[in-house]
Amino acid sequence: MLILGGGSNLVFTTDYRGTVVNIATKGITMAMDTDYYYVSVQAGENWHDLVEFCLANQINGLENMALIPGTVGAAPIQNIGAYGVEFNRFCHAIEFLRLDSNDLQVFSNEQCHFSYRESIFKQELKNLAVVTEVTLKLPKQWQPVLDYGPLQNMDPQTVTAKQIFDCVCQVRQSKLPDPKVLGNVGSFFKNPIVTCNEFIELRVEFPTIVAYEQVDGQYKLAAGWLIEQAGLKGFRLGDAAVHQNQALVLVNMGSATGEEVCQLARHIIDVVFNKFAVTLQPEPRIIGPDGEIKI
Ligand SMILES: Cc1cc2nc3c(=O)[nH]c(=O)nc-3n(C[C@H](O)[C@H](O)[C@H](O)COP(=O)(O)OP(=O)(O)OC[C@H]3O[C@@H](n4cnc5c(N)ncnc54)[C@H](O)[C@@H]3O)c2cc1C
Repeated sequence: MLILGGGSNLVFTTDYRGTVVNIATKGITMAMDTDYYYVSVQAGENWHDLVEFCLANQINGLENMALIPGTVGAAPIQNIGAYGVEFNRFCHAIEFLRLDSNDLQVFSNEQCHFSYRESIFKQELKNLAVVTEVTLKLPKQWQPVLDYGPLQNMDPQTVTAKQIFDCVCQVRQSKLPDPKVLGNVGSFFKNPIVTCNEFIELRVEFPTIVAYEQVDGQYKLAAGWLIEQAGLKGFRLGDAAVHQNQALVLVNMGSATGEEVCQLARHIIDVVFNKFAVTLQPEPRIIGPDGEIKI
């Protein structure tokens, strides 16, 4: 059985032989205490609609994650994030159905083991949990997050959540190809995390390398930069291509099959490894006839 939300982070290499269950449950309830809003959302709600709903109700915090495609139930699976904010920042609880015991369970934020594009739902509970409801906890005392890209130009004293939302929407619409027009799953690779020593060695050889220091002292390398520097921006294998403007996004120019997209991904992984000795990991889940496969 394959659980399907909006399908925006899945690549099918062929028809799937099992049953596909599309989560389409709807509903939002709100509560609050002195310091926080608690927003409980059914898994089938659309993520971006939720961001808009919260803003309309003066509940701020999700604006940096505007326009991330897909459902609310999928958000904890890979701990979605954009423009310096990740889902786990506001996650209070995840309710899910355990498929091995048929129990409805609730995990706290800590129990979900969130990290960069990771959670327990991709590890120990992989294929064992159907997320049914997500509860977010958003502070009434809002703090803007302006660390990334064009948001850095905004004034933290005067900026509003709506201004951040508008800016994020505008930048995303101008930078990312619309999957309805040009098939894509957003970033095809995770930004690789390397140790401080590995980063220093890389920087000696490639002084302009783009990287972000992590709280644990490791470095997150910009995968798009690695692919671009490997000369692969715009590279095309049949109808599967590296996007002209966004090297991290692979696009279907017309009739590429899932298998051709994976061939292109394998080629990119090899070329980047040969140049930088860094292994790129795909971000989307690749689905073969019997479930998830490695590429
Ligand atoms: C143009 C574009 C831009 C993107 N930008 C970003 C970005 O900025 N940041 C980011 O983090 N991601 C981004 N993504 C990836 C994608 O939006 C997220 O991964 C999103 O959470 C996927 O939601 P979905 O409902 O489409 O999930 P699907 O693709 O349907 O499923 C993804 C995985 O989650 C599982 N799943 C889905 N729903 C449930 C559920 N209720 N219970 C258990 N498992 C479930 C599926 O089985 C599958 O393994 C982008 C994708 C695209 C196409």
